[in-house]
Amino acid sequence: MKTTPIDETHTPALKSWVESANQGTDFPIQNLPLGVFRTSGSGSHRIGVAIGDSVLDLRACLDRSLLTGMPTRVLSACGDETLNDLMACPDVERRALRHRLSHLLRAEGAQVTAKPHAVEVLLAQREVRMVLPARIQDYTDFYASIDHATNVGSMMRPDNPLLPNYKWVPIGYHGRSSSIVVSGTPVKRPSGQIDPTAAGPTPHFEPTKLLDYELEMGIFIADRNELGAATPITEAGSRIFGLCLLNDWSARDVQKWEYQPLGPFLSKNFATSISPWVVTTEALAPFRSAAFHRPAGDPQPLPHLRSAQDQALGAFDVALEVSLSTRSMRWHGHAPVKLSRSNVASLYWTPAQMIAHHTSGGCNLNPGDLLGTGTVSGKEKASRGCLLELTTRGKERIELPGGETRGFLEDGDEVIFTASCTREGFTRIGFGECRGVVVG
Ligand code: CA
Repeated sequence: MKTTPIDETHTPALKSWVESANQGTDFPIQNLPLGVFRTSGSGSHRIGVAIGDSVLDLRACLDRSLLTGMPTRVLSACGDETLNDLMACPDVERRALRHRLSHLLRAEGAQVTAKPHAVEVLLAQREVRMVLPARIQDYTDFYASIDHATNVGSMMRPDNPLLPNYKWVPIGYHGRSSSIVVSGTPVKRPSGQIDPTAAGPTPHFEPTKLLDYELEMGIFIADRNELGAATPITEAGSRIFGLCLLNDWSARDVQKWEYQPLGPFLSKNFATSISPWVVTTEALAPFRSAAFHRPAGDPQPLPHLRSAQDQALGAFDVALEVSLSTRSMRWHGHAPVKLSRSNVASLYWTPAQMIAHHTSGGCNLNPGDLLGTGTVSGKEKASRGCLLELTTRGKERIELPGGETRGFLEDGDEVIFTASCTREGFTRIGFGECRGVVVG
């Protein structure tokens, strides 16, 4: 596996002429995440780069010849209305764009700068509306946290929580891309057939009573593999365009009734929220870590899922956090309350293993396809990434400021995910937010 290099764009001393980028933001000049926004004027969709509290408009940069010299495909892709064409560019070209963006936004020592054009190329984030970053043709959700799989499995099968395939094959299911929405989109409580053990002797069709979130990372796919041609594990890392936050909203009472024998269906397909900014693999280079350390007795990955590079640096050290704000809490001025914290580096499978596995039978992945990691839970109770685990299926209710309690989500509840990467010697970078309010 080729590794993304740590280079001068990661230098902690770099500052931006956009002052807000130098003040402990999620989006310092070392980050440069990409997203798509809608302008308030023409309503057109444009690719932007988050910098501090602002957005650098790439179409406006093109118009002012600030991207001259970039590879032809990159130039054309930067004027597009989605990130798909950029995601189709090879990693060396994506890296060239990162270097140019870093120079455009540098306070000092830049070969080319956007500063004289600030009025034309820079917008305030609060004045634009973010939309989905890519045309997502296909979405697959994995189940890569062994702690999540064990916790959930032990509720369903106390004697046999982890099924025998878990340590051999990255488990996943094909999800639904049509209902992926950007952060901030309200999520309507779905109706479905409710597990009869909860609803009565026979199933009822009614609004879910056990609405949950799942704290996940989304992985945007770069490049393509032809149908029938697997991406080897040694190449799979370069197919990770970048990461975002992902909330796999889940109706547990519907899920329990429908999941056997073919897996989740309507319990998951009503909405999946993602954060609008995609933090690129290049930005994440300083925050890589070793793959899950398999204890003695666990099988080693089969050869097609194993490479020395991926084992050494295939994981992403991203700290995740979930907060909840109820309607009553907002009314009374209470801040959102933190529910749990976990880390993507604890996953049993790396993103490259997910990609190698997904394509290993010949399935083609396209630029802009999205993978979910599955709920990211850790060993501690405070690191459980969904309410099903945190409240043990609603039995241990969470106490909230103002005296409310929650087993599962109620209408008006807002779920907020955040994430960040920190490492000694590097500048902290963040992912922004993935929010969603439940509506009845
Ligand atoms: Ca999930």
